[in-house]
Amino acid sequence: MADNVAAVLHGINDIRMEPVARPTPGPNDVLIAMKAVGICGSDVHYWTHGRIGDFVLTCPMVLGHESSGTVVEVGANVKTLVAGDRVAIEPGVPCRLCSYCKTGRYNLCPDMQFCATPPVNGSLARFYVHPADFCFKLPDHVSFEEGALLEPLSVGVHACRRANVTLGSRVLVCGAGPIGLVCMLAAKAAGASEVVVTDIDQHRLDVAKSMGAHKIFRVTSRDAKEVAAQIAELAGGRLDVAIECSGAEASLRTAIFSTRNGGVVVLVGLGAPEVNMPIVDAAVREVDIRGIFRYVNAYPTALAMIASGTVNVKPLITHHFKLNDAIQAFETAKTGAGGAIKVMIHCDQ
Ligand code: NAD
Ligand code: ZN
Repeated sequence: MADNVAAVLHGINDIRMEPVARPTPGPNDVLIAMKAVGICGSDVHYWTHGRIGDFVLTCPMVLGHESSGTVVEVGANVKTLVAGDRVAIEPGVPCRLCSYCKTGRYNLCPDMQFCATPPVNGSLARFYVHPADFCFKLPDHVSFEEGALLEPLSVGVHACRRANVTLGSRVLVCGAGPIGLVCMLAAKAAGASEVVVTDIDQHRLDVAKSMGAHKIFRVTSRDAKEVAAQIAELAGGRLDVAIECSGAEASLRTAIFSTRNGGVVVLVGLGAPEVNMPIVDAAVREVDIRGIFRYVNAYPTALAMIASGTVNVKPLITHHFKLNDAIQAFETAKTGAGGAIKVMIHCDQ
């Protein structure tokens, strides 16, 4: 059937809205009529650069991985979903067989198939097929947009788990983009008693404050020690945890200097592949530096947090576009025009 349309990336600065075949679900899959797809920084980066690190666009690829929709057809073996179910789509499907998958760290699976990471097609289309066990049924009161935002929220959940954020934790979140904001929300939901959010952009800090950051701090100096001293003054000392969500080298350095002895720094932001950091300072103060790669077993938690009202991700969404206007949506996400934070595309419009 030729009633499907997808946003296909052909090369740098070359997204085309194209008719594509409606995919057929395999025995363990569901066919989904797509509803909401959020644009992520990585979608924009593939569009503007054609690659992220070793992942290089070598053939046309459908974009989009923060998504939700309605099941319209289920494969023969699917017992957990029926046509009409509204679902959020966890975009990374691992092999389910390797030691990482079997020990519960499937985000590290070497055979991960992740939507819109070349060469795997994403979900920014009218119809899309996905394995049923990576689709999560949304309660009636959770919107499709919230379903799409389970993706970035899962990054925040995983970052807080890796950081051991718990009751009374004092947390620094560096960078108030969509990822910094979901880390802030997840940290508060996990019981953090103080969350300080930094950015260089006052508008983003204002959003962080309106979404519940206890304190905000605008970074104006490139001297990380000086910035850390200013943050310590604001927060009444170094913090237990720093979650670095900007990818900027200066900010990573600040994150280490701002973390108390024996605390944890989690690297969420991915900037330059190699950076200068105060490694001896971290070592002798037993500050643990941990990376994260996306998330693992976080969708059910993120959904429970939204469904219970513990976390409100709706203020992240600043712009809405129809599927046919996807290119305009990408322009808005790229330039941040009009204070754009999360740009949402509606595939049924
Ligand atoms: P974004 O670009 O919208 O946000 C980054 C924010 O950092 C911006 O608001 C920017 O003004 C701010 N910033 C820049 N320099 C700063 C500094 N010196 N100090 C404080 N703030 C500074 O990006 P995003 O979508 O929020 O994503 C954030 C990062 O997380 C990106 O690097 C992205 O690649 C990464 N990411 C990583 C994972 C993972 O699995 N590790 C998953 C998703 C995103
Ligand atoms: Zn695996």
